[in-house]
Amino acid sequence: MSEIDLYASLKNYFGFTQFKGLQEEVISSIIQDKNTFVIMPTGGGKSLCYQLPALIKDGTAIVVSPLIALMKNQVDALRAHSAKEGIAHVLNSSLNKTEIKQVKSDIRDGITKLLYVAPESLTKEENVEFLNSVTISFVAIDEAHCISEWGHDFRPEYRNLRKIIKRIGENIPIIGLTATATPKVQEDILKNLGIQDANTFKASFNRPNLYYEIRPKTKNVDSDIIRFVKQNEGKSGIIYCLSRKRVEELAQTLQVNGLKAVPYHAGLDAKTRVKHQDMFLMEDADVVVATIAFGMGIDKPDVRFVVHNDIPKSIESYYQETGRAGRDGGEGHCLAFYSYKDIEKLEKFMSGKPVAEQEIGHALLQEVVAFAETSMSRRKFILHYFGEEFDNETGDGGDMDDNMRHPKKKHEAQNEVATLLDVIKRTNQQYKAKEVVNVLVGNVNALIKSHRTDSQDFFGIGKSYTPEHWMALLRQVLVAGYLRKDIETYGVIKLTDDGEAFMQNPKSFMMTEDHSYKEANDDSIITPQKSSGGAGDEKLFALLKSQRKKVADSLSLPPFVIFQDPSLEDMALKYPVTLEELSNVHGVGEGKAKKYGSTFVDLISKYVEENDIVRPDDFVVKSTGLNSGLKLYIIQSVDRKLSLNDIADAKGLEMPDFIKEMEAIVYSGTKLNIDYWIDEILDEDQQEELYDYFLEAETDKINEAMEEFEGDYDDEELRLYRIKFISEVAN
Ligand code: ADP
Ligand code: MG
Repeated sequence: MSEIDLYASLKNYFGFTQFKGLQEEVISSIIQDKNTFVIMPTGGGKSLCYQLPALIKDGTAIVVSPLIALMKNQVDALRAHSAKEGIAHVLNSSLNKTEIKQVKSDIRDGITKLLYVAPESLTKEENVEFLNSVTISFVAIDEAHCISEWGHDFRPEYRNLRKIIKRIGENIPIIGLTATATPKVQEDILKNLGIQDANTFKASFNRPNLYYEIRPKTKNVDSDIIRFVKQNEGKSGIIYCLSRKRVEELAQTLQVNGLKAVPYHAGLDAKTRVKHQDMFLMEDADVVVATIAFGMGIDKPDVRFVVHNDIPKSIESYYQETGRAGRDGGEGHCLAFYSYKDIEKLEKFMSGKPVAEQEIGHALLQEVVAFAETSMSRRKFILHYFGEEFDNETGDGGDMDDNMRHPKKKHEAQNEVATLLDVIKRTNQQYKAKEVVNVLVGNVNALIKSHRTDSQDFFGIGKSYTPEHWMALLRQVLVAGYLRKDIETYGVIKLTDDGEAFMQNPKSFMMTEDHSYKEANDDSIITPQKSSGGAGDEKLFALLKSQRKKVADSLSLPPFVIFQDPSLEDMALKYPVTLEELSNVHGVGEGKAKKYGSTFVDLISKYVEENDIVRPDDFVVKSTGLNSGLKLYIIQSVDRKLSLNDIADAKGLEMPDFIKEMEAIVYSGTKLNIDYWIDEILDEDQQEELYDYFLEAETDKINEAMEEFEGDYDDEELRLYRIKFISEVAN
């Protein structure tokens, strides 16, 4: 087959004049009946790689794909290009007898060039026999990563494909295609399909136009998302959430805030799903809030942002989902909200699964944690994960992530790297990352004891650094290629040749500390971490702070009693100029707005006027009220002086979470009289001591109070007393 013919067919069947990426090479390989393996990112044009040769070659090509909806799309598209309806068919359980007959006769007559089947249908005896009796040009296996347990979408049916194909014909060429495959998954695919000899074509996974950003997930995530969507108003975007419930909730919240959003998840009926998908495609809706059920086969080229309300369960999923942004090569902002709590939630989901599956799931999740917390080039991290080297100094899109735009300081860590490698070597390269760190800082556990590592002279040699520091370094050394994770053994850390060479001949290694997403989680949800998106108008923030000090001084109260920092930050962002607007600011309720608000809104009004500030139009995060039922219940129950334990139990809350709810209530300006409870747990002297402390304290931070009292009170006592205090003095 000559080149000219390929181009003619490309034009003829698809109307394109150029091949994309590696398509031409792949197609030539298939036309020469070679086993072929294609790794190309989503949108890279994999379908055409098998469709075009199928159309050219004698016989019928079998296309195995796990996604029935996608098959139908492809079949429709192929039919649209052809005069013959029978050129492509789907063979699955939804067909009736007459339809099946038609499919078979079209194949026999040589009309059908592509036959799409789900792996389940291919296992059916009658289908195997039939396919064995006709001419098959080749078998293409789309989404081939489904073969590997180490992929993000393992499907056991895929494991049988090799055997079945053999029965259909001895020498049928096999084409595997996938959009994501770590080196381990690639190896699994080739082995399982028995095509180790395949011509392999791997396109770069780099998507230089995508901007990657991770922000800490706080209680404010709703406002953070709304703010982000407002900043991108009119642009198309997808917001992914883990649960259907969250999808509904967030879609509603966006809607009541005047944004054109629709929900999408598998729990909606088919009609609604189609309607919402169409609204998105037709741009009647800007934003789809969706579970991962959305996006497969959605080919909207101008998706300008993908937000992850919850961090996905693997880097593959993250890459796939973010990959739906910026397909046209234009802007694509990928923003994920991360909290370690979400990781724990995902781990919980896995707990019922077989152990091996859990181990794999856990290993995949740890990569996500590493990705979220790293402060190195995110693009480099992702590409390394997929087995690709990337130089973020010179590579395309090298500065397109939060870490590169706002780099953390680096320091020379040559000696630490040497220590790390040395410890790994001297423990016989048998530990996973966590254990290596334990050895470095001198934490004993059963595993370490069983290897007697704790009696070695190097045990605890890295004590002067924190475990987090070592973990960050270890990950950076992994990406630098001095170490590797052995996947077969679920992540045991091994030295590479480069690592050995470093040990012989150490050289400079600049490391950056990871982000810490934990620091502000200590004592109160009311003090969320600053989002990296900036705290708003810094000048105004400073003015608000000094106003707060003035008010506090005049009332002889500590400033935090008036408004907390996050509330001031929110004011510096939203510029509320009426008390009503102020009561919608984070952590400010109606009561508090009335009591302390007037001088603040006056200040803001003046500031807005003097500085010609255009206030974000109607920028008020309105609540859908989905959460207020709980607060109301708590207020009523406390009013009835019910035992706090009983209230928490009734709502299925652990005490710390319950206390958080109460804190949110009093900090936003509603009184909560828990004296009846406090009197039970603290005597008069203690209460007096705590009262004096909070009145004088610089901050209301619990850990500082803990320090001050050197353990006289526990966390719970202090927080409960703080609730009483805030409730009394501030409301
Ligand atoms: P993948 O399966 O790799 O995710 P698809 O096969 O769905 O990608 O192709 C993605 C898009 O690229 C489709 O809209 C397709 O029509 C388009 N496309 C594929 N090949 C070409 C080409 N040679 N020229 C222009 N567009 C192409
Ligand atoms: Mg595809």
